[in-house]
Amino acid sequence: MADPSTIRIPDDLLPADGRFGCGPSKVRPEAVEALSRVSRTYLGTSHRQKTVRNEVARLRRGLAEFFSLPDGYEVILSNGGTTAFWESAVFGLIRDRAQFATHGEFGAKFATAVRAAPFLGEPTVHSATPGTAAALTAEAGVDVYGIPQNETSTGVSVPVRRVPGADPDALMLIDATSGAGGLDVDVAETDVYYFAPQKCFGSDGGIWIGLFSPAAIARAEEIKASGRYIPAFLDVVTAIEQSRLEQTYNTPALATVFLAAEQTDWMLSQGGLAWAAKRTAESASIIYGWAARSSFATPFVTDPAVRSTVVATIDLDPAVSADAVSAVLRANGIVDTDSYRKLGRNQLRVALFPAVEPSDVERLTHCIDHVVERL
Ligand SMILES: *Cc1c(COP(=O)(O)O)cnc(C)c1O
Repeated sequence: MADPSTIRIPDDLLPADGRFGCGPSKVRPEAVEALSRVSRTYLGTSHRQKTVRNEVARLRRGLAEFFSLPDGYEVILSNGGTTAFWESAVFGLIRDRAQFATHGEFGAKFATAVRAAPFLGEPTVHSATPGTAAALTAEAGVDVYGIPQNETSTGVSVPVRRVPGADPDALMLIDATSGAGGLDVDVAETDVYYFAPQKCFGSDGGIWIGLFSPAAIARAEEIKASGRYIPAFLDVVTAIEQSRLEQTYNTPALATVFLAAEQTDWMLSQGGLAWAAKRTAESASIIYGWAARSSFATPFVTDPAVRSTVVATIDLDPAVSADAVSAVLRANGIVDTDSYRKLGRNQLRVALFPAVEPSDVERLTHCIDHVVERL
């Protein structure tokens, strides 16, 4: 085997941008330039004043348009990323019993948070072997259903639909952290469609955003009124009230808010969600098409119906070390193609988020071929 550190990918093969990580993911240089233009008037200014609240408002308004928000739904945001949203849901959205469908690491984390809460009933968890999809099933007494739209650790994505036969006031919580903005969705099929902006929204991490239905807002108010202990930082009702004022309970990352608003407006200017979903599908057809033709690569997700168009997971032949390929790519400026560690597979994982140019995905496949020929 050749010494991987000596493999140099010719400049004319390289993608224009080498960031293919699944989060934090590629931030468009144009967005960073826009941030730079407001660096003295926006960064370092009070989040309780107009300048910052206008950016929160721009983000909330942009998202409402981008997702064609149904009547009565509201864009809510607060600090701490998706992980903090899970804990907030534990305290403020689940009455007693939740049911989860988990197809990997991220879906399982929400279920674990619920199981750890002494004041909630034991959740039902339907889990699937990695690379396949789990499904929710109607169950009497379940008041919250949770499923990831796109499981970032495995590259499995599922259509977003309410559970037929579920109790009429059960809430549908969709972890759309890596799917929102890149996969089609009818938000009316959800009660909270939640995500963080470091994936398809091409921003940095640190905040969570949820599209709340009137039923979800009512549930948060009901649980708060019941007198349950709720840590102030995780209080969903506070998040709702603060969002309506175009602010957050405590200080947000101003750059994150701005970059997310930039990405939303950029995607809107390109044609909105329909455009974004088409673009990720194009990138997906490039990389899966390449894998199908390749002698050493195969899509990990065998069922094309649940194969993600925003996160591609590609298994390599055991004779080709994915770690070595990723390491050579990294040494050549193409970063974060490594598989999700805990999955433990000989695999490459590639983000196909809207900020990533399909032409760069194409170039990436040529770079992988170039490296494998020389290993
Ligand atoms: C990235 C990711 C998370 C975690 O998001 P944080 O903002 O880091 O808490 C949760 N769920 C999914 C599906 C993800 O892709």
